[in-house]
Amino acid sequence: MTAKLINGKELSKELKQEMKKEVLDLKEKGLNPHLTVILVGDNPASKSYVSGKKKASQEVGISSEIIHLEESISEKELLEVIHKLNDDKRVHGILVQLPLPDHIVEQHVIEAIRPEKDVDGFHPVNIGRMMTNQDTFLPCTPYGIITMLKSKQISIAGKHAVIIGRSNIVGKPVGQLLLNEHSTVTYCHSRTENLKELTTQADILVVAIGKPRVITSDYVKKGAVVIDVGINRLEDGSLTGDVDFESVSDKASYITPVPRGVGPMTITMLLKNTIKAAKGLAHID
Ligand code: NDP
Repeated sequence: MTAKLINGKELSKELKQEMKKEVLDLKEKGLNPHLTVILVGDNPASKSYVSGKKKASQEVGISSEIIHLEESISEKELLEVIHKLNDDKRVHGILVQLPLPDHIVEQHVIEAIRPEKDVDGFHPVNIGRMMTNQDTFLPCTPYGIITMLKSKQISIAGKHAVIIGRSNIVGKPVGQLLLNEHSTVTYCHSRTENLKELTTQADILVVAIGKPRVITSDYVKKGAVVIDVGINRLEDGSLTGDVDFESVSDKASYITPVPRGVGPMTITMLLKNTIKAAKGLAHID
C-alpha cells in the first residue's frame, strides 16, 4: 500500500475533544445544547444509527433524547410531534431518522423541521443556502468529507473532482461543497456511459454508489485522492466500501478506509451542527 490513510475515526476523536471543551464553555454561559432524534418503527439499522448518535452526543456533553414512535403513526401525528419540537426552547437540533415507513412522505417531514433546527441539513432552505455558498447546516456526510480533505491540507481549488453517485444526501451535496471550494466537478451515476474515462481524470474521486468494491484500480488515476463513502455488509458480516481498497491503495495518494473512514465523521458533523444550532438559536457567535 502506497497511499496515505485518512483515518476518520482518529479525526473524529480529535474533533470530539474540541467540541467537548466548547460544550463546557457553552454550559457555563447557561446554554445546554440538546439534540432530539425521532425514530419511527423498528428498523434494526435505524435503531443502531440512532443509538450511535445518542452515544456520540453524550461523549461531548450534548444532551439528547430519542423519541421512539410506532411504525403505524400517521404523517399528521408525526408532523405534530415535529411542530412541538420546533416550538420547544430546550431543543436545538431535530433529526428524523430516515427511511420512514411508506405511508409517510419523507419530504413533508423534512420540510416541517424548522430550518434553524435542521441539523441534518436536508431542509430545502438549508440546501439552497449551501448552493449559494452561505453559512448554513451542511449535510453531515459531505461536511465530513470536506473536513477530512482539509485535515490533510489536500488542495481542492482548481482540482478535478469526480463524484460517483447523485443521491440527495451524499453525491449531490458533496459535489456542491467541492464546487464551493473551487474544484471543477463532474457527476457520474448509473446512466453515465463513459465512467472509467471520467474517473481516471479525477484528482479527487468520491465514490458513493452502495455496491461492494466495484471501483478497482483501473478506475483511478495514479496519485488521486480517493474517498470511499460506501458501507456494504458482506455475507460474513464484515463491512466493506465501494472501493477495492487492496488494489486502489497502491495507486492513490490518499484513501479513506471502510470502516474507520467517512462513517465516523458523519456522526461527528451532526454534533458540530447541533452545537451550531444551539449557538444560533441563543444568538452566540
Ligand atoms: P443511493 O442508492 O441513494 O445512490 C447511489 C448512487 O450511485 C445513485 O446516484 C446511482 O445512480 C449510483 N450508482 C449505482 N450504481 C452505479 C454504477 N454501477 N455506476 C455508477 N453509479 C452508480 O445511495 P447513497 O448515496 O445514500 O449511499 C451510497 C453509499 O454510501 C451506500 O453504501 C451507503 O450505505 C453509504 N453511505 C454512507 C454514509 C456514511 O456515513 N459513510 C452515509 C450515507 C450513505 P442513479 O442515480 O442513476 O440511480
